[in-house]
Amino acid sequence: MTDATALTGRVAALRRRVAQASAGYGRAPGSVDIVAVSKSQPVEAIAAALRAGLRRFGENYAQEALAKIADPRLAGRGIEWHFIGPVQSNKTRLIAVHFNWVHSIDRLNIAQRLSEQRPEQLAPLNVCLQVNVSGETTKAGTMLDALPGLARAVARLSRLRLRGLMTLPAPAQDVNEQRRAFHKLNQALHELNTQGLNLDTLSMGTSDDLEAAIAEGATLVRVGTAIFGTRSKIR
Ligand SMILES: *Cc1c(COP(=O)(O)O)cnc(C)c1O
Repeated sequence: MTDATALTGRVAALRRRVAQASAGYGRAPGSVDIVAVSKSQPVEAIAAALRAGLRRFGENYAQEALAKIADPRLAGRGIEWHFIGPVQSNKTRLIAVHFNWVHSIDRLNIAQRLSEQRPEQLAPLNVCLQVNVSGETTKAGTMLDALPGLARAVARLSRLRLRGLMTLPAPAQDVNEQRRAFHKLNQALHELNTQGLNLDTLSMGTSDDLEAAIAEGATLVRVGTAIFGTRSKIR
């Protein structure tokens, strides 16, 4: 079996998982989309995933992503690129120019830079705020108590379109524990919408916990290893 055949099989299995969880938890058909997390994966693997019907790809490192975005095998193929890693201020211009979405905003000054640097001829950059729902001090993401202020400020930036919230909780074995973290993000989104924001995106769930995320309202699941297999290098 070639790598591409194996990948096609994994994508089909993933689609079944998403469909089964969606049906099982009463989610509307088509309300959960897959972002294929292609960090550390070569262009050929992304091209195979594209042939398997995936259109949204997530990258964590701006420099690595740029080489792929510019690759002739991928350019002009209708890919929607999602930046999901930590945003360094010296990379905001690259990201503002080359990506369609950024999931991992947790500071206002980064959002301001992205808004200022988003080219006029492109649609506003879709963004999510990354939230640290477990409250660990070492993790990326804004704390829940700082979220409403950050969300209001980001929503005012003219070249960004605030779409919703993202989280990457500490791994948990127990599905109820997984659901608790995702439930907090769902509640936070609901509260922001009650305060007048108009958010439609919950970016949560990975290969290991996407069922729990779908149960709690995920609209985008970010899936790497279940599509591409285990990553060869850990960065
Ligand atoms: C790597 C990564 C994922 C995907 O994780 P898998 O376990 O490979 O599915 C999702 N979100 C973020 C932010 C990541 O860095």
